[in-house]
Amino acid sequence: MTKRVAVIGAGPSGLAQLRAFQSAAQKGAEIPEIVCFEKQSNWGGLWNYTWRTGVDENGEPVHCSMYRYLWSNGPKEGLEFADYSFEEHFGKQIASYPPRAVLFDYIEGRVKKADVRKWIRFSSVIRWVEYDADKGDFEITVHDMENDRVYKERFDNVIVASGHFSSPNVPEYPGFAQFNGRIIHAHDFRDAREFSGKDVLVVGASYSAEDIGSQCWKYGAKSITSCYRSAPMGFDWPENWDEKPALEKVEGKTVYFKDGTTKDVDAIILCTGYKHYFPFLPDDLRLKTANVLATADLYKGVVYNPNPKMFYLGMQDQWYTFNMFDAQAWYVRDIILGRIDLPDAATMAADVEARVAAEAKNETDNDCIVYQGEYVKELIADTDYPSFDVDAANEAFFQWKKHKKQGIMTFRNNAYVSPITGTLAPAHHTPWKDALDDSMDAYLQN
Ligand SMILES: Cc1cc2nc3c(=O)[nH]c(=O)nc-3n(C[C@H](O)[C@H](O)[C@H](O)COP(=O)(O)OP(=O)(O)OC[C@H]3O[C@@H](n4cnc5c(N)ncnc54)[C@H](O)[C@@H]3O)c2cc1C
Repeated sequence: MTKRVAVIGAGPSGLAQLRAFQSAAQKGAEIPEIVCFEKQSNWGGLWNYTWRTGVDENGEPVHCSMYRYLWSNGPKEGLEFADYSFEEHFGKQIASYPPRAVLFDYIEGRVKKADVRKWIRFSSVIRWVEYDADKGDFEITVHDMENDRVYKERFDNVIVASGHFSSPNVPEYPGFAQFNGRIIHAHDFRDAREFSGKDVLVVGASYSAEDIGSQCWKYGAKSITSCYRSAPMGFDWPENWDEKPALEKVEGKTVYFKDGTTKDVDAIILCTGYKHYFPFLPDDLRLKTANVLATADLYKGVVYNPNPKMFYLGMQDQWYTFNMFDAQAWYVRDIILGRIDLPDAATMAADVEARVAAEAKNETDNDCIVYQGEYVKELIADTDYPSFDVDAANEAFFQWKKHKKQGIMTFRNNAYVSPITGTLAPAHHTPWKDALDDSMDAYLQN
């Protein structure tokens, strides 16, 4: 009987898995039946923008954490698909920090070409997955929202690609309940114009804080204050941006910081991260990991050690994204196709330990970039995913870090060399801070 494989999620990771199987079939391999379940009505994962917050049209938690005016926060040269370059998609080389709509179009272009939409059941929420040890397979419970029908199906393998930047980590601070303003988590931030003319506090010191603060600045916030627990972001902030140590409490509109200083603000945006959250998985199948490069319990970063018929994609903290998901998806595909053998349990556990120990030696961001680049190389060496110049992608990331230090509001004006085609991107026609229209048409204008 034909094997059946379930893929949970049609974001960049799940779509990489579909493309991986399709590419094997295209080369003549016999592949299992693939069914991808996607709770949204379209593909693209986080890149599928919605204005909604809270719940979606079906009453399910909104997956999207992206916002209007979001531009890639790293160079596109770091994420480019090795089997589908930007030049192939757009018919020309484009500037290095595309807005969300442009990247959505790029993601979609490859899977349209591969014709894998037919493998996806949209508006289908995975409610539960259970392993049947007697039969050696999985039973999956699905809620088909369009027909409002709950059903069960069996699969030989399950690949979880449901993402981990959607369920917010929401801390509470004394005085929040009485704050005379708006408090939201980054997950619910949609449009920086809402904060125009306002004094905004962003809590956190990572990408969300940096980018949401920058968005608010760009679209006319009166002032930005950001606060950190361990270390400041330390960029050359504009004069109306102040960086403070940890938030301690709130009284009325006044926020108090650890150094005894205060500030009156209109809004507090919690950029306090996300949780790996899998409400559809029982304890024996559920990945429990921090947001790190060497995820707990995953052999080669993808095989779930306690049950190696189950796989996870994209669960790492991410410098590399789309092409790393590809490397993972091709690797998982080849295990399922029997092209790659899994070692014994002790060896798989030792692999995770070695990755954790190697990650602990990283001291700088550049070390982390190289670490993840090496991981990508390691996986693609074992499959037929087109080999690409990972060192050139590392180089684009190093340049990006340097350009951010030189100017946090100007780094997106730089251009880098594609690791896939070797061509240099053009500079964008308008500096990022002045480019208020995030549409694809505006971006692609010459
Ligand atoms: C604000 C923000 C900005 C980012 N910016 C960048 C950037 O500039 N560049 C970059 O490379 N990366 C960026 N990322 C990182 C992002 O994680 C990846 O680009 C990518 O979206 C991850 O893909 P994924 O498929 O693993 O997860 P996701 O994109 O999260 O997709 C997961 C999919 O699973 C579906 N799903 C979840 N639960 C279920 C269920 N129970 N049943 C059925 N379907 C389900 C979801 O609906 C979703 O479609 C950003 C992330 C965030 C939050």
